[in-house]
Amino acid sequence: MAIVVQKYGGSSVADAEKIRNVARRIEASFKKGNKVVVVVSAMGDTTDDLIDLANKINPNPEPREMDLLLSTGEIVSSTLLAMALHAMGYSAVALSGQQAGISTDSSFSQARITGVEPERIIRELDKGNIVIVAGFQGITPNNDIATLGRGGSDTTAVALAASLKARVCEIYTDVEGVYTADPRLVPEARKLDEIGYEEMLEMATSGARVMHHRSVELGQVFNIPILVASSMVEKPGTIIHGGKNMEQKNKVRGIAHDMDVAKITITGVPDRPGVAAAIFTPLAKACISVETIVQNASANNITDLTFTIVKKDIPRAMKIIAPVAKKIGAREYRSDTKLGKVSIIGTGMQNTPGYAAKMFQTLFAQDINIQMITTSEIRITCIIAEDKVKDAVRALHKAFELDKG
Ligand code: ASP
Ligand code: MG
Repeated sequence: MAIVVQKYGGSSVADAEKIRNVARRIEASFKKGNKVVVVVSAMGDTTDDLIDLANKINPNPEPREMDLLLSTGEIVSSTLLAMALHAMGYSAVALSGQQAGISTDSSFSQARITGVEPERIIRELDKGNIVIVAGFQGITPNNDIATLGRGGSDTTAVALAASLKARVCEIYTDVEGVYTADPRLVPEARKLDEIGYEEMLEMATSGARVMHHRSVELGQVFNIPILVASSMVEKPGTIIHGGKNMEQKNKVRGIAHDMDVAKITITGVPDRPGVAAAIFTPLAKACISVETIVQNASANNITDLTFTIVKKDIPRAMKIIAPVAKKIGAREYRSDTKLGKVSIIGTGMQNTPGYAAKMFQTLFAQDINIQMITTSEIRITCIIAEDKVKDAVRALHKAFELDKG
């Protein structure tokens, strides 16, 4: 009997009726003869609500208690889902992340899974149980509960699929799959039938919200096919896999965008060894993740340095930069929080000239100013004004003919 891991997102288990709907979907898979392991997110906005509540009580909650608190969201949804299955006459067991054998490191709120001991799950499956696992959590070496970062239930699901050697990891959510662009921005966006891990990873890290990027990474490492599909309608979804792409003709596979971009520019920076280290070491120590860094070629040994971070980190980063800028003798530093980014992604772009030029021309034709550019082998990203992102995504989608199937 094949093991199937399914994951249901928060919107799919938002209320009692939706939980019953999920239970019926699990029933269907179980009746096909699969051994079914299900990972659930917290119901609806539970995680956000718990964060708000905690902040009302203490604006600086201890990470340990915060994670223990947030882990309860998934305990609630997993136990209710097991109860729904019981009510339908099935034997099911709900397990916390710890009971499911998931170990993590100790970085509260962004813990990484360090190992999975699936023996308990296997025992339950062998008894004929459907196993429901609370997503987004595991146990640290100190026996504390840690959470995996927002959206982390996807990662739980793929990690379990890998350790159970599941046939497939099915991610059920409120969209029908992975699209060529966000359909809310581009009505002509098409659902992709399949996409490679690398492309999906670039999409996810470039702002496509459909899957947590760490889960895609894990899927790639363990070569677990991941199906992304709707939990509401019966449609085929998108399969993320490691095989060759079947849609090679159109070499740009998708357009991703992200409105959450801010930048800090430090001008008049003396160009000497150690300066970049002096700026970025304290940011790293404060766990501020820096994305794009651009340093101008220096004139007269003076240079400008610009880097991007997420918007919410700006106040902290500016506080950290103030003394550093002074110490290294920079002229001034300033921030801009009204930025966004747009990326074109596709393995077909590798070693093929012309994609960047076409992207820049398309943005130029929309009168959009490009502030920064970064690339990987299969991605080109432009940082632009936030209020231009929507136009940019639409224009690029058309220019690269992603509307044509
Ligand atoms: N409940 C957590 C969140 O909202 C984890 C998840 O949904 O995957 O981020
Ligand atoms: Mg959630």
